[in-house]
Amino acid sequence: MELKPFKLFIDGQWVESAAGKYFETVNPATEEVITEIAQGDARDVERVVVAARRAFESGPWPRLAGSARRAVLERMATLLAERTDEFALLETLDTGKPLLQSRTRDLPFACEILRYYAGWADKIYGTSLPAGPQGVGYTLREPVGVVGMITPWNSPLVLSLMKIAAALAAGNVLIHKPASWTPLTAYRFAQLALEAGLPPGVLNVITGPGHTVGKAIVAHPQVDKISFTGETATGREIMRDGADTLKRISFELGGKSPNIVFADAPDLDAAAALSARGFCVNQGQICWSGSRLFVEESVHDRFIEKLLARVKNDWKIGDPMDANTGMGPLISGSHLKHVQEYIVEGKKGGAELLTGGERPDRKGYFLTPAVFDNADNRMKIAREEIFGPVLTVIPFKTFEDVVAQANDTCYGLASGIWTSDITKAHRLARLLRAGSVWINTYGALNPAAPFGGFRQSGFGREMGQEALQLFTEVKTVWVNLA
Ligand code: NAD
Repeated sequence: MELKPFKLFIDGQWVESAAGKYFETVNPATEEVITEIAQGDARDVERVVVAARRAFESGPWPRLAGSARRAVLERMATLLAERTDEFALLETLDTGKPLLQSRTRDLPFACEILRYYAGWADKIYGTSLPAGPQGVGYTLREPVGVVGMITPWNSPLVLSLMKIAAALAAGNVLIHKPASWTPLTAYRFAQLALEAGLPPGVLNVITGPGHTVGKAIVAHPQVDKISFTGETATGREIMRDGADTLKRISFELGGKSPNIVFADAPDLDAAAALSARGFCVNQGQICWSGSRLFVEESVHDRFIEKLLARVKNDWKIGDPMDANTGMGPLISGSHLKHVQEYIVEGKKGGAELLTGGERPDRKGYFLTPAVFDNADNRMKIAREEIFGPVLTVIPFKTFEDVVAQANDTCYGLASGIWTSDITKAHRLARLLRAGSVWINTYGALNPAAPFGGFRQSGFGREMGQEALQLFTEVKTVWVNLA
């Protein structure tokens, strides 16, 4: 696929960056350059903020009837569905995720998210207040304003649309900074949005390093809110940088999620299949990865045998363009090296490597999925987010024991429970300190289901009605009738 270099997308126009510089985006499966991307700097942030501010203060979007915004979001979904092949290919070239996954999961899910929030656009309203006989009181829900959206590389289109769709439904104006490794679909989507009828300047895209462009967006006094998905460490930095302007902030950060298999799981085969998927899908580069697998001792050997069979059969490494490929490459050489360091660390720390952690003899940043068994929750491989296909299995004896270990983490994004005892399942669901609890499944996502983290996995919830809270301000109006 021949792709021309991408310029910045500001105010509905493709524009050169102030410095006129470009960087390369690379296909991680072939290590070949896909195309060049404009590299912005603080001057470009200034320019994009001026355009966004104008679109918010005097443009039509925040003032449109909800039904008109709904129609535009619906058209975006229709156009995106029509262009599934093109967007799926771009996403796969940029990330290395198997094309089949991009086409049959990411793209349909992205369209679903747009349709879901299209449905909300004309249903956002306040309440009337008990003002007493002398007055009338009511609340309005208004857009927050100019929202800076800073997104990661692991599922670029879906993770961006979780923010974009909800924020647009509520009438905001956006500055999107995608990750430098995966900017293609962000740019293409901004162009599609314009075609769908979004006014110029409402969805702007700018690329460049997080520590310059990202930082400048966060610190800018004319940016009202930051919606960030990425590493917990970056989240800390953004909080500090946003402090001076008291930025509204919502965070979707890292995880080290426990996936708990009891001996009375209703279907050990299904549990093994989804537990394998839970750390292998997207090459394990997934925030909700069930990377700490707790298995009840009495069923441990039988379960591990099933799990290893699924890892071997379902998650074969190969060319992402091939329909039989389960697992593509990791995102980059530097990330691969980072994940490999954890393989060394796991062995050094005394866990038993049952399979994987090897580099196949081919070009691209591939790594076979690794399963460490008989690990301890205090080991580094059980405490830190690896963000690769590495599973840490920890056997457990009792309910109390597993609750304590599952919650013994600084994160709290997701969790899984496999049991046929409904009392145990619901008791545990209450005890787990995590934003999502999956019972007898793992990794189920739905645009209507709020998603986000407890503790250092973030705050605020994306998707569902909850996300509308993140992108609206509440205004109270009192009228004196006396
Ligand atoms: P990252 O934090 O390195 O980068 C994310 C984005 O932030 C990029 O666009 C980057 O350029 C930008 N950035 C970096 N430093 C910045 C700074 N100082 N100021 C402003 N912007 C800055 O994360 P990543 O490596 O791209 O993504 C992987 C991480 O994302 C993992 O930790 C993963 O768990 C997390 N994640 C979380 C969720 C969720 O929903 N909770 C979803 C996907 C990924």
